[in-house]
Amino acid sequence: MKPSARYIYLILIAILSAVGCDSSRIENTKPNFIFIMSDDHANRTISAYGDSINHTPNIDRLATEGAIFINSFCANSICAPSRSSILTGKHNHKNGVYTNGSPWYGSQTQFPRIFKKNGYETALIGKWHLNSDPGDEYDYFKILTGAGRQGFYYNPSFLSSEKGNTDESGYSTDLVTKEAINWLRDIRDPSKPFLPLVQYKAVHVPRMPEFRFLENNSEDSIPEPETLYDDYEHRARYAREVNMFIWKSNLIPPYRTYDLSGNRYIYFARMTEEERKRYHAYYDPWNAEYEEMKAKGMLAGDMEKKYWYQRFIKDYLRVVDAIDENVGKLVDFLDAGELAENTIVIYCSDQSYFTGEHGWAEKMLMYEEALQMPLLMRWPGKIFPGTRIQGMVQNIDYAPTLLDIAGLEIPEEMQGRSFVPILDEVPPDDWRKSIYYHYYEHGGHGVPRHEGVRSQRYKLINYYTDNVWEFFDLEKDPDEMQSVYNDPYYEVEIRSMKEELLRLRSYYEIPDSVFVPPFVK
Ligand code: CA
Repeated sequence: MKPSARYIYLILIAILSAVGCDSSRIENTKPNFIFIMSDDHANRTISAYGDSINHTPNIDRLATEGAIFINSFCANSICAPSRSSILTGKHNHKNGVYTNGSPWYGSQTQFPRIFKKNGYETALIGKWHLNSDPGDEYDYFKILTGAGRQGFYYNPSFLSSEKGNTDESGYSTDLVTKEAINWLRDIRDPSKPFLPLVQYKAVHVPRMPEFRFLENNSEDSIPEPETLYDDYEHRARYAREVNMFIWKSNLIPPYRTYDLSGNRYIYFARMTEEERKRYHAYYDPWNAEYEEMKAKGMLAGDMEKKYWYQRFIKDYLRVVDAIDENVGKLVDFLDAGELAENTIVIYCSDQSYFTGEHGWAEKMLMYEEALQMPLLMRWPGKIFPGTRIQGMVQNIDYAPTLLDIAGLEIPEEMQGRSFVPILDEVPPDDWRKSIYYHYYEHGGHGVPRHEGVRSQRYKLINYYTDNVWEFFDLEKDPDEMQSVYNDPYYEVEIRSMKEELLRLRSYYEIPDSVFVPPFVK
């Protein structure tokens, strides 16, 4: 967008506010928020991010009517730790959620409680995943339960503040949206500004698409990422050793057997018998074809990976299709009423995801696909439509940003920074030049603990459990195919990034104890 168009837009908004041509808006000066978060949603499966392999018109609307964050990152690429950073505005050594197994101390400072204390009506609907139940920070909650607090796709169980434990018929993403709309329309106190957190289980494993999307892309060939057949040379040994290959990712009903035993039981057992039959009717022919191809020797070498990439990515995109449709329902509901103009809508995922890059379907590593966090934000009258924000933001910034927008005080203990000053595309001079990352769940999927620093151009990763380093020049090597840690050409940059790593460790007060074994699993 041209700066002149942006300037005219903002002047117009200012004049309209000044002359009071919309008096209802001026009366209710506190903005409302709808915070929508999915799980493991890869940036490249949101078409607003550009080189996309699918079409997500409803999520894209938030970018065309608002802003998309190009350099948005998490601080620890795994579910519960990212959620805790979002709530508290802190890195994990400060909020105690190092891994998915860590306890959650709900009494600590977190933005929903501050909102509620300051007159907001707050709600939490959908996936929660933290290891103790939500508390008094929400006026209303209804969270997915079961499957290790991950929740089920089909006919899920919920725990709600009003009705306790319930089982419901339907598909997780649809039910969460329905409940969010129900809360917005009928349950909340209409005299108060509102803040619902609407959190989808999708696109997390064990991935199961809803029936109406099962045929999507069936006959297409989805483009492969350039790094699908990565040979894992020229990097630390972990790239070769980790266990996150695409063919281990999706939940596919066993061919013909209708087997409900073992780990898969809990997911397929949620379905009615009719649903299971219908599911098999779709998957069995594909499984039969696979067996035939395998028997004929058609899947030797890379062909097996090629085959499973298509199976994996199609189911992944079908689960995304349901998210996009439901985001559309939620935004349409908002826009049909009188609240849209004074409501900020945010869409993010707790982290992005490898969708075939390097042959993987997971997160955790500090490589780009896992380090990123999709983030889109619509704020009518404040964010110029179609804004592309380049400044570096991180999940620790969300709490301070939301508090800032609501005009509430940001507690000093929060480590993130409000990104309101960068919503105008060009970050101020003192905006952060690098982000700090620390993954703690040592050994999960074969990924060791590691920390690192990323600037706009470089990335330094410290696998400190065995003193191994990687360094990437993201301008020359955006796919991170070659660590240049031992290349003398980068000596000065590496030294400078090591200094930056130490500065950030000190700035965020990372305790020395986290670098000493035994390491948390
Ligand atoms: Ca996640």
